[in-house]
Amino acid sequence: MAKSKIQINFLEHTPVGAYHHLRFIDRLKETDAFPLKPSALDIFQMNLGKMCNQVCKHCHVDAGPDRKEIMEREVMQLCLDAIDQSGASTIDLTGGAPEMNPNFRWLVEQLSGRGKRILVRCNLTIIVANPRFNDLPQFYKEHGCEIISSLPYFTAIRTDAQRGSGVFEKSLKALKMLNAVGYGQEGTGVKLNLVYNPSGAFLPADQLSLQQQFKKKLKTLYGIEFNELLTITNLPISRFLDYLIQSGNYEGYMEKLIQSFNPSAALNVMCRNTLSVGWDGYLYDCDFNQMLDLPITTQSAHIRDFDPVQLMQREIVTNKHCFGCTAGAGSSCGGSIA
Ligand code: SF4
Ligand code: SF4
Repeated sequence: MAKSKIQINFLEHTPVGAYHHLRFIDRLKETDAFPLKPSALDIFQMNLGKMCNQVCKHCHVDAGPDRKEIMEREVMQLCLDAIDQSGASTIDLTGGAPEMNPNFRWLVEQLSGRGKRILVRCNLTIIVANPRFNDLPQFYKEHGCEIISSLPYFTAIRTDAQRGSGVFEKSLKALKMLNAVGYGQEGTGVKLNLVYNPSGAFLPADQLSLQQQFKKKLKTLYGIEFNELLTITNLPISRFLDYLIQSGNYEGYMEKLIQSFNPSAALNVMCRNTLSVGWDGYLYDCDFNQMLDLPITTQSAHIRDFDPVQLMQREIVTNKHCFGCTAGAGSSCGGSIA
């Protein structure tokens, strides 16, 4: 599995990492939240592969067009069997660009037939990347998918700096196509949520104020509408960790996260109600642990041995990166927590 050299060295060879992890455990103990345990299995998150048409600077998946890891249909079927057993209400499809998986549409059809709430983490540009993806907005709508898409800012300069040259223009085009079939419009029943994450070593501003700002700007400047803005804190892993180390911001950022520890966010971190499945069927407490190769602690950590009872009894694997979920208003794949 390709992973940046800096990250591997950093995780394995520095005592600073272990020290910060102990500090996280201490904070959990003070909050009466140690060991961290699941509360329910509501959200089943599936990583359909690391292939992506973009190479964003802060991507925690290290995704890109050269990545070959893809979830096979056999693993998808094991996931569907597990979903049937688990009673999870929400299925969160992520990647890479999940739509680049050749079995993506088959999977969505299977899930919509089961009446599940389906979240698709769509990077927007995939919709306009190739004519074979142009009908995605209609396909999403037909299956009631909720779309969650990153848009770092309402200007080209900041969006392109984080996600690549030309991404802003393509994202606007895709957003208009989603709006045209009803996404982001009141009363249509199909939701389009945008995701904001900071462009540097700082915490996101207040979610609601940012949402108001984004709504006003996108509507007046481009005629684009969306439902909610979700703010996500950058966790110190993968490409963002490389950036922190290379720019000399690592210690300052970690201290910021640690000093902003919020007990109420800690009690509601997403790993308590989510299970994350890797492209190869291995199970993790969350997407971030997946990227760090920290599997769940049950006897078997593979979807083929899915056991909902054992899963509920496990201890969640934490490390220093968890401070990213508990800082300030808290952060999860669904936005701020507290
Ligand atoms: S679009 Fe998403 S998965 Fe693809 S490189 Fe960007 S952040 Fe990573
Ligand atoms: S990084 Fe994962 S395991 Fe750690 S607190 Fe956040 S969701 Fe939970």
